[in-house]
Amino acid sequence: MIRRIDIQDIKDFIICPRMFWLKKEHKVSEKLFSSINEKYIVQLRKTIYFLFSQIQQYDYADLKRIKRRWADLWICKGAISKEQLFLPNVNDTHGWKKKRSQDGMDILYRVWDKYGDPKYIDRWEIVVVNIPYEIHIDDDIIIVGKLPIIRMDDNSNINILDFRLCDEYFSTKDDIEISLISLGYRKYSSQIEKNFTVYSIDKKRERSTRRGPMDHQIAVDTCNEVVIAINNGINYRRLSRQCEACPYYFVCRDNGEEETDE
Ligand code: SF4
Repeated sequence: MIRRIDIQDIKDFIICPRMFWLKKEHKVSEKLFSSINEKYIVQLRKTIYFLFSQIQQYDYADLKRIKRRWADLWICKGAISKEQLFLPNVNDTHGWKKKRSQDGMDILYRVWDKYGDPKYIDRWEIVVVNIPYEIHIDDDIIIVGKLPIIRMDDNSNINILDFRLCDEYFSTKDDIEISLISLGYRKYSSQIEKNFTVYSIDKKRERSTRRGPMDHQIAVDTCNEVVIAINNGINYRRLSRQCEACPYYFVCRDNGEEETDE
């Protein structure tokens, strides 16, 4: 029975229970990622957090070091066979990976240009970057996740900042992870954040949102229900438009049947 569960598992299960189980089955690359898409998003976000760690330490972000970190996390490491990559088009693995390298670099340059600007740096003190939080629910379930970037302005207002790509689901209003991060932060610091900022990497704009007790309660109830469903082996396909982008599309559709002539 599940006692500790990562927020990513909760999100995956909400998106599609079958995808959740297929991800568990197909973990690749030293058991860190379950698809190359996931690796891209995770490593890109790690590099963005690295940029903010630099600002926290030096009041400055060195673009050369950021490029090197991205090269380490994405370009050099993780040579895995193309069958394991779960790409939409496995015939062009090399081309896809190269394109993603450049996409990632463009994004990092954009983030650096905006958040590494001295005027922007002066406005915020970075308090915390990418540290774990835990939320205990009903004594026997623990939700684990990471607080992204916590920053404070001159008036001591706390803002939580995180980044999203269009490949990721959920709108800002309904994003359960935002509610859990807000709750996790309050438990971690015994303080209440003023608001939450989401920078949409693809749309190149920030959106602001807030979370209150009702949002926290809905998130906790949802986690509880998801854990019950997982413990009961619920495993249905949630067919929708998201299937087009699902890395397990072909695995999911292959149910072992062979076509035969009538
Ligand atoms: S293809 Fe659709 S139904 Fe199948 S696992 Fe992916 S999201 Fe779920």
